[in-house]
Amino acid sequence: MVQCDLGGDCCPRDPVTDKRMKMDGWINLLICFTPVCICTRRGYARVNYPSLRLFVMTTNYRRVSDTCKRHRRDSSTMEESNCITNQKTVVAVVGGGLVGSLNACFFAKRGFHVEVFESRGDIRCAKKVKGRSINLALSHRGRQALKHVGIEEKIVSKGIPMHARMIHSLSGKQTPIPYGKKGQYILSIDRANLNKELLTVAEAYPNTKLNFDHKLQDWSPETGQMTFIRADGAKDQIEADLIVGCDGAFSAVRKQFLRRSRFNYSQTYIPDGYMELTMPPVNGEFAMEPNYLHIWPRNAFMMISLPNLDKTFTCTLFMPFENFEKITTGDEVIEFFQEYFPDATPLIGVDALKRDFFCLPAQAMVSVKCSPYHIGDKCVLMGDAAHAVVPFYGQGMNAGFEDCIVFDEIMNEFSEDLGAVLPEYSRVRVPDDQAIADLAMYNYIEMRAHVNSKWFLFRKHVDNFLHMLMPNTIVPLYTMVTFTRTRYHKAVEHWQWQNKVINQVLMLTAVGATVAGSCLLIKRRTDVIKMGLSAEEMWNRILALKTF
Ligand SMILES: Cc1cc2nc3c(=O)[nH]c(=O)nc-3n(C[C@H](O)[C@H](O)[C@H](O)COP(=O)(O)OP(=O)(O)OC[C@H]3O[C@@H](n4cnc5c(N)ncnc54)[C@H](O)[C@@H]3O)c2cc1C
Repeated sequence: MVQCDLGGDCCPRDPVTDKRMKMDGWINLLICFTPVCICTRRGYARVNYPSLRLFVMTTNYRRVSDTCKRHRRDSSTMEESNCITNQKTVVAVVGGGLVGSLNACFFAKRGFHVEVFESRGDIRCAKKVKGRSINLALSHRGRQALKHVGIEEKIVSKGIPMHARMIHSLSGKQTPIPYGKKGQYILSIDRANLNKELLTVAEAYPNTKLNFDHKLQDWSPETGQMTFIRADGAKDQIEADLIVGCDGAFSAVRKQFLRRSRFNYSQTYIPDGYMELTMPPVNGEFAMEPNYLHIWPRNAFMMISLPNLDKTFTCTLFMPFENFEKITTGDEVIEFFQEYFPDATPLIGVDALKRDFFCLPAQAMVSVKCSPYHIGDKCVLMGDAAHAVVPFYGQGMNAGFEDCIVFDEIMNEFSEDLGAVLPEYSRVRVPDDQAIADLAMYNYIEMRAHVNSKWFLFRKHVDNFLHMLMPNTIVPLYTMVTFTRTRYHKAVEHWQWQNKVINQVLMLTAVGATVAGSCLLIKRRTDVIKMGLSAEEMWNRILALKTF
């Protein structure tokens, strides 16, 4: 990319030098000077089957003209924009969910022509947003990705910090278990709002276009041609140089991968489902302490609760489907809640529980693993499309956001040579995503059962204490996963190593204490014999020792 000495407002700026950039070729130069004749063309050049190539040409022209048009319109905001234009490559991001909309920003920042295709309508105009969990936990990896595109602070300011898990026992006793060191916390974020913000940020790049009501039906790995179905049933044929599949756990992009040899794929539904319920504010205030992720662990199932900005809590009940199915009437709902969540029942409200429990059926949770994540230099999968994980580590979105950073880092390393970048991305990222998928499965057991165990709590204290003494050697797993960018699979390896060491040290300590105790007793026994104590006197002395 070369510097633009034309000085026209329509030329975007280089993010590093902040100088205007020259557009490639005479045609673009012309477009740059004559935006009106190009820009007055109606929208998108959509063509049917025979003339697909024309689309790419027109897309490239249109992108530049759109760049000019939007740049003139928003010249003030453009001064701050980091956008550059790499006019050669058209990147189609399929899926405008959390990862897709963030990814669009990463590609737009590099100057590619980015087209986002989302099957839903624009959620920013929708009254109600259909989708998965109402809120989710944002942590370090996700924040780092948001920072890359300059919206970390904006999102964080709308989140609620959660410093610890708050464990609710059956008796209603509440015990906090901090997530990390003082000052470390995860954030409860409104999913719909985050998605809306990301779409708005993506759309602000002049080289990005959002296409709603475009559902991918099929695509060709050979040509990069995609077929979309629009809301009115019409079909669109669109071609791109790179297709980025961010279309979630049931990815349509991934279907093409399944038709190819040497593509590994597994999908596991866990036997549990989830249901969301709302805990309203009490007298305009949160019904419980807001800066915690509340957990009601009941061994075979659990309920968790995250705070929202409107002072409600979203409670999510995770339970085997067969248990959900056993509850068929309002009275049974109340009976169940009063038995297992007695302190939460009045806070959610008996009437609300009876009503809301039957509003929507429990939702399924799936874990998807696959490899590789790419096909040639044509297509790459990211986010849930590549690795849907169960939600118990609060890492699905965070991992998906980190995918974008990792891809970006590899783009730098290989100078945007997609033929080299895509295989490297698969090589680097697959082991990490598979590690977090396994950890997420493991964490369900930790959350619903282990937190009830004294040994687990003792080990947490030991780990935290050792972490304080040796912060670089002993790092709790949760800290590595949630508060660092340690590669997930490295975190697991380190955790297994330190578990072995700590368990051995604890065992040696226990053996040492037993041996020392026995020696003491034997020594005392000799004293006893020497002193000629009666059995009764000796027993009294042992009792005295125990009390001591
Ligand atoms: C109950 C629950 C709680 C969770 N809590 C957390 C948490 O606390 N922290 C965390 O990090 N993660 C959490 N997750 C995981 C997180 O929701 C996902 O990892 C994240 O949404 C993945 O984002 P994505 O963009 O890859 O996929 P999605 O969010 O599924 O977005 C995919 C998008 O693609 C669109 N699409 C689908 N098919 C097509 C098509 N054919 N054509 C065009 N567009 C298409 C969809 O409409 C959607 O907008 C949770 C998940 C669940 C279920």
